[in-house]
Amino acid sequence: MEDLYLKTLPGTRDLLPGEIGRWQAVEEHARRIFSNYAFLEIRTPIIEATELFARGIGGETDIVGKEMYTFRDQSGRSVTLRPEATASVVRAYIQNTMYRGGGITKLYYIGPMFRHEKKQKGRWRQFYQIGAEILGSDHPAADAEIIEIALHFLQSLGVESKLLLNSVGCPSCRPKYIEKLRSELQKHLPKLCADCNRRAATNTLRVLDCKVENCQPYINELPCITDYLCVECSDHFSRLKTYLEAAGIGYEPAPRLVRGLDYYVRTAFEIVSTELGAQNALAGGGRYDGLSELLGGPPVHAIGFALGLDRLVTLLPEERSAQWQWRPELFIAYMGEPAFNKALEIARELRRLNYACYLDFLPGSLKSQLRLANKLGAKHVLIIGDQELYRQRYALKSLQDSRQWELSFPELVQYLQSARKGSQT
Ligand code: AMP
Repeated sequence: MEDLYLKTLPGTRDLLPGEIGRWQAVEEHARRIFSNYAFLEIRTPIIEATELFARGIGGETDIVGKEMYTFRDQSGRSVTLRPEATASVVRAYIQNTMYRGGGITKLYYIGPMFRHEKKQKGRWRQFYQIGAEILGSDHPAADAEIIEIALHFLQSLGVESKLLLNSVGCPSCRPKYIEKLRSELQKHLPKLCADCNRRAATNTLRVLDCKVENCQPYINELPCITDYLCVECSDHFSRLKTYLEAAGIGYEPAPRLVRGLDYYVRTAFEIVSTELGAQNALAGGGRYDGLSELLGGPPVHAIGFALGLDRLVTLLPEERSAQWQWRPELFIAYMGEPAFNKALEIARELRRLNYACYLDFLPGSLKSQLRLANKLGAKHVLIIGDQELYRQRYALKSLQDSRQWELSFPELVQYLQSARKGSQT
């Protein structure tokens, strides 16, 4: 069994060159869109003190209770591979006193997260998220913008999705609702699953999250949190909806959508794919006004979301695949050693001029080089043999329409420039 050591761990995988173009396209796209909304990137460490997540995500959650990759480092400190990034972002915000000056801070991140989850289709133990956070504002327009950017990002990639929206109230109105929920739950406890029974006592709101089929009829009968909102939360929720409507964003009310921890307030949302099956959640987010204080920082209003890249990448429409495949603009074919040296020189000059060139180091016949050029999707092939070398004029073959003609190096550069312009129009 020793070859097990030469394989990836369960729930992890290599992202190979054949699929990496999709990932890069998504990441590049994210960077552009997020910066259009004035979000700047933050990169926090992948390992953090375990306590950060225990406090920042909550000991009651599955993530902290069962799924963290935690170990002791050489100094005996308990460290954890980050299972999500919001706690780290808020830690960085506090540690670097980014709240100084009192303005709004808009941050985004892209990177791997780690959760030791049960094996399931669409669930990985190392997976990738893109997320955005707005710190320093309790304005409902900030909530609307966070939702808008997530939807805009998905839509611009051609991915169909649906917004599920709820408000989970605040520490002043939620206790009354939870009390009501507990008393209603008492009637059904013997019929509900073991998790529901446990949560009814420890983290009552999370009962609403239960996915067990037999529990659903009882859960659907439970009162809705939106009927218990205080005036301020209710006002925030209706203003958020007005902003969404003004942005042309439709939503589906989701009164059972909750976040189980006290520091989550008001807005909670999920974005689901209209195409994926059981694991259809693409993104989740909400307002977490109490998190900074919980981590030892000042009171800070904040809202954010995290979007799963692994699922998103599988949803990218195939007809766009040409956009994310790497293709050489020029394949340079050569015959013989002197031509090879010229090919190296031309490739070097073109790369300095920012053209993608391919040059093979395994000398083969012209036929085999043309075959490779086709396989790579090259747009043009430059052919250099003794004749061409002598005359300093090369044969250029278009693989799009099979035309072939002769040109000098300066003419080649000019041609590539105009070909690039042409492909952009
Ligand atoms: P969460 O941080 O749990 O709110 O998740 C936000 C998004 O990340 C989800 O909607 C999924 O798209 C994605 N996600 C969460 N966990 C996983 C996982 N184990 N594998 C793949 N994607 C995940």
